[in-house]
Amino acid sequence: MAFIIDGKKISQDIKEELKEKVTAYKAGGVQITLAVIQVGKDPASCVYVGNKKKACEFIGIRSLAYELTEEATEEELLRLVKELNRREDVNGILVQLPLPKHINENLVIRTISPDKDVDGFHPQSVGALSIGQKGFVSCTPSGIIQLLKRSGIEIEGKECVIIGRSNIVGKPMALLLLRENGTVTICHSRTRNLKEVAKRGDILIVAIGKPKFINRDYIKEGAVVIDVGIHRDENNKLCGDVDFNDVIDKVSAITPVPGGVGPMTIAMLMYNCIDSIRLRQNPGSTEELEYPI
Ligand code: NAP
Repeated sequence: MAFIIDGKKISQDIKEELKEKVTAYKAGGVQITLAVIQVGKDPASCVYVGNKKKACEFIGIRSLAYELTEEATEEELLRLVKELNRREDVNGILVQLPLPKHINENLVIRTISPDKDVDGFHPQSVGALSIGQKGFVSCTPSGIIQLLKRSGIEIEGKECVIIGRSNIVGKPMALLLLRENGTVTICHSRTRNLKEVAKRGDILIVAIGKPKFINRDYIKEGAVVIDVGIHRDENNKLCGDVDFNDVIDKVSAITPVPGGVGPMTIAMLMYNCIDSIRLRQNPGSTEELEYPI
């Protein structure tokens, strides 16, 4: 019987723990503030931004919402980011992606101060991760590490195969698994014999962006499968990159969609907001984080 990794429960546990930390900070007179900038009204982005605000409310983080119109210029957005960089009372800045086509996303990410880069997308954050130094870590992959650890799944020495090499999921995922002493393989659209490579994975992480693409032919008997994808299927039901029903009797553990990786991303964003305090107080330190992420 496969073990279903309960991302909803694990993310709730993390949020409860973080709420206690925020309460303690507040008692010491420290208020944590996250600024969320949204440009335009993309429906998926509205849902994500709404969920982030709700999580902030639950934990006790103050959230500031900046809603720019679809027509806002790159200059306006950069001006706002720079102003938030300067503000002492703002700990984290999040610009909801994707941005409208006329705005250079990379430039916006690079403009966010690395001290406030709670999404972990700034080149400095990515660089720190790659050389094992302290910095913000991208929330989806750090959430996956928490899912594995809190489900008692050992990473050290395991064959970890990642399908997908995006900057926000696949690449940081590889660095985090390496940090946990996994043996890491990254696959992408030019990988030859994908099925054979995927089948090496004791832990298979799928971030390919194609609904139900991965079936049992890609899975090693007894593998742990983490499904990052989020899609709507032909019946308008949420599904992942993995064909859950096809693989379920072949895996030892798997994340469902919904209720797997998704809720972890927001929990780890909240974690990063709180960690911003420690990063600011002690920049450049290699001190271990409280959650070993
Ligand atoms: P992405 O930027 O579209 O990257 C997809 C990756 O998959 C690319 O590296 C691509 O290879 C690779 N790929 C595509 N087709 C392939 C194939 N046939 N064989 C092998 N590799 C293939 O996607 P992403 O941003 O990483 O997101 C992946 C999925 O996760 C999406 O469904 C997204 O919605 C979801 N997601 C969920 C969360 C969450 O919180 N749960 C967070 C982020 C993303 P190339 O590099 O060669 O093109």
